[in-house]
Amino acid sequence: MTTPTLWLRANRDRSVKRHHPWIFSGGVARVDGNPGPGDTVLVKAADSTALGWAAYSPASQIRARMWTFEPDEEVDAEFVAGRVAAAAARRAPLLGSGLTDSARLVFSEADGVPGLVADRYGDTVVCQLTTAGADAWREVLAGTLAALPGVACVYERSDADVREREGLGQRVGLLRGQVPSSDLVAHEAGFRFAVDVAGGHKTGFYLDQRDARAAVASWAAGRRVLNVFGYTGAFSVIAASRGAASVTTIDSSGPALSIAARNGGLNGVDVGELVEADAFAALRGLRDRARQYDLILLDPPKLANTEAQVDKASRAYKDLNLLAVKLLAPGGVLMTWSCSGAMPMELFQKVVAGAALDARRAVRIIGRLHQPADHPVPLAFPEAEYLKGLVLHAD
Ligand code: SAH
Repeated sequence: MTTPTLWLRANRDRSVKRHHPWIFSGGVARVDGNPGPGDTVLVKAADSTALGWAAYSPASQIRARMWTFEPDEEVDAEFVAGRVAAAAARRAPLLGSGLTDSARLVFSEADGVPGLVADRYGDTVVCQLTTAGADAWREVLAGTLAALPGVACVYERSDADVREREGLGQRVGLLRGQVPSSDLVAHEAGFRFAVDVAGGHKTGFYLDQRDARAAVASWAAGRRVLNVFGYTGAFSVIAASRGAASVTTIDSSGPALSIAARNGGLNGVDVGELVEADAFAALRGLRDRARQYDLILLDPPKLANTEAQVDKASRAYKDLNLLAVKLLAPGGVLMTWSCSGAMPMELFQKVVAGAALDARRAVRIIGRLHQPADHPVPLAFPEAEYLKGLVLHAD
């Protein structure tokens, strides 16, 4: 039997040799052995040097994703399970710290398991498979996650649009164990946040804003807080419980705001005003009424999915940040984020600087926020970095 082999074009082996996991279709000279979607292929340079093994994605522009850069390693069930277990083990310090019972266990390429995101909330693991390679190993992935100590349930939320780029349909449902409880809660820093496993965004809760939640906790006391794109109100609950003077949450999703109200109850606080509205329109309305806030949190959804969308996204970020800066009271603080991987930090900062200039406010960076430790960024794979935030002070 011939080993399915992906041959790189001449001079297209540099990034693989630097342990970057993606092989784009343009770099592929030919594929031997007729591999199917998700099959493991041997990757060879044009000079026949074996570079490692990859998961083949015939429908995707990212034609293959490296499993290993060791040609002698075998990519079998034990290998895949080992990668998942090792990733989960790296979260042990976080999960054992007493801070939280919820963390991202596996972050795709950043943990050597391309296409698998697995988030743990207490005894429940919610996973998302986004590539042909991950799809091919679904049973092994599910079994390994289910076997982790204390895990009672593995639920799949493979309903992300990115699956289309891999030629995959959507899959949602229980993989292992019992159906997750409808009152599943993530515990973090003494707070309790409802997790909507079946209906929420992504896997149900934004674990990636953990460090931001700590920042909000430290800034909220005595401030009039405006939480824009508030989702289920995690920032709002924290602000309210830390003695904010007032809290207003804006989101276009009614169901998310219902959970925000529930989160208020779960934490014994009045979560404040919940406004179901388009954020752009709502911010304009607040500006027209000359409202002022001392702490504004601006956490929009991913506005640029690809590099082609960065220009358009920049204009949207500019609009939002201009409106937010105008709403800041003297001495106010704005925390503003971009979760678009395609948007580089330097560009985001420039866009926000343009907004401050147009608002005629002197604004200083007093802090920066990033995705937390359970969303790591391999040095060889900077693309894993997607979430960046600025903490800004306005005179
Ligand atoms: N800050 C939140 C996460 C925000 S996710 C947290 O820490 O949990 C982005 C949110 O923006 C989602 O809740 C989504 O419903 C909302 N959203 C998307 N487009 C919107 C729009 N145009 N106006 C208001 N909210 C919007």
